[in-house]
Order: sequence, then structure tokens, then C-alpha cells
Amino acid sequence: MNLREEIIKVAKAEAADLVGFAPASRFGADDPIFKIFPEVKTVICLVFRVLRGVYRGIEEGTTYYQFPTMGCETMEETVMPIASLKVCNLIESEGHMALPQRRHYTITSDKDDTNPEAQNEAIFRGRDKEIHMNFEDSAVLCGVGERGFYGALLTDEFGPMVKYCFVLTDAELEADDVKEAHLCDKCGKCVKGCPGNAIDAESGKLDRWRCAVYYDGACGLKNPFMAPDAFPDFENRLDIIAGTAKIDRALAEKIIDSNVFYPAIMQGYQACMCGRSCDMECYVHLEEKGALTKSFKTPFRKREPWKFNIEDFEA
Ligand code: SF4
Ligand code: SF4
Repeated sequence: MNLREEIIKVAKAEAADLVGFAPASRFGADDPIFKIFPEVKTVICLVFRVLRGVYRGIEEGTTYYQFPTMGCETMEETVMPIASLKVCNLIESEGHMALPQRRHYTITSDKDDTNPEAQNEAIFRGRDKEIHMNFEDSAVLCGVGERGFYGALLTDEFGPMVKYCFVLTDAELEADDVKEAHLCDKCGKCVKGCPGNAIDAESGKLDRWRCAVYYDGACGLKNPFMAPDAFPDFENRLDIIAGTAKIDRALAEKIIDSNVFYPAIMQGYQACMCGRSCDMECYVHLEEKGALTKSFKTPFRKREPWKFNIEDFEA
């Protein structure tokens, strides 16, 4: 049996769109993969498209729950774990070891990381870090895409509209080449698309606390659920609503606590009110310039993006 071919077949039968293989030797000696699984020989990346349609409601300002439920939660909690478990089962059936690696949004890799739902004290017990793979860099090393200016994985087929997970194995499998970066032209649309100005225009670095706040919908200009008198207890409420407030961790946590627009926590996943506009704007840009290999009958962007005015909110 050609194990590599069988892995691709199983992954694709479980909705993976791309499968990339990297030898562990391609990773630096300090890479987390060697702490997680010292005998690892091959890293396998499984990439899944996120349906363009689930971004539609946020693009239109009408329906928001499809993206966090069908685009994030169902993918990360059901589709992707089943695919990676089946790949792991195949590998272990052939006598090798296989360790699935997925993202867990309630487990952060640093004590001061952003997820307010994480119980870091309980997790770390005095250690500095939970050891995680670097998902973006590892995906690039597996040959499935490149990193865009704002750090996201960009694929030739679907741009940034993808999710991905990994399998580490001690099986030695034929590798794919790393792709030469060619998609990101530093147009800056990802920066401008963020309603909370969470991406630095010079470096592309993400301010993770700002992102946490505006992912949750703190920008009233792009949130149709926000009342005109929102954030009454905040001195700089109009700056918060406009996406321009200076935000540190303490303020971010306070804003997030007062910022629940959808009862998504019942579902386990926080509602995404920004719709990952960084990704959407990048996707629209790549589609408009004909850079993506997966084409559609009509473009994603149908009309001028909508926006409220700061004057719509009570002074
Ligand atoms: S929006 Fe432009 S600058 Fe940002 S990642 Fe995409 S191509 Fe690069
Ligand atoms: S996920 Fe949302 S809040 Fe975070 S950088 Fe992207 S657009 Fe901004």
C-alpha cells in the first residue's frame, strides 16, 4: 500500500481539500513539534475550505450565526477532527504512531494570551507555556500555502477562507515542496478591512487583545445589533465604537464582558461579529485580481460594503 496516497484519499473523502506533507527535518530543531512528539518524522497538514456562503450574511449585515457555527465550530469540532482521526487510524493501522493536532480555542499557548474563557491558572500550574504547534508556519512548511501580510495562511485555491489541522507521525512519507510566496502583494486591504484597527499597517502584526474585542463586535460601525447608547459605563465609548480607542488587556476584558450580541457561548463558540473581515477583504482582493485557482460563477463582493456612521450613536 502507498500510505501517502491512502492518507490523501481518506482525508479527501472526509472533506479535506488540500493535503500537504513535510519532513520533520524541515522544521527547526527548537520547533514545538519535537517537544510534542520527539520521534516525529512527517508533518501532515489537512486543509479545508470554509464555504464562501457562510460569510454572506456578515458581508450583507443580515445573518451572523452561520459563520461562527458552520464556518468555525462545526469545522473545528466535527468535520476536521473526524478527518484527522480517520487519517490517524489509517496510519496506526499500518503500525506507525499518529498524533492529531487541532486548535483549541479555550486553551491558549501563553499565560497572558487573549481568550477570556481560558482558565490559565488551572492549565499551567506554574509552567510558562502550554506547548502548541505554530499552525501558520507549519502549514507553509507543508507546502499548502504562504503567509499573507497579516499572518494568515493564503492558499492558491481559496485564499484565506480555509481552516487546517495537522497529523504528526513517525512514518516517513514523501514530502511536498514549500510553495514560493506569490499571492500577497502587500496591498494593505486586510489592514483597512479590520473594523478595530487590530493589524499594524507597517508590520502586519496583530494586536491580539484588540482583535479579541473587535472580533466580538465592539465596532458599532459594522455591528447592526449595537444600540445607539452602547457601552454607557465607558468614558471613551465613542472611540471604542469607532474602533479607534487605545486598548490594553484590562480594558479589553471589560469591553468583552459587556459585549455579548449573540448567545453563542451556549454553542461553545464566541460569536464572530467582524466576520473576519481581514480574511474577507483579502479574499475579495485576490479574487478581483484573478489570483485564485478556484473560480466561481459570480464574484463574492456584489455591492459596496455597508457601514454605519459614528453620528448614529448617542454622544
Ligand atoms: S489583503 Fe493584500 S496585503 Fe493583506 S494579506 Fe491579502 S494580499 Fe496581502
Ligand atoms: S479577526 Fe476581525 S478583529 Fe481580528 S484582525 Fe481580523 S477583522 Fe480584525
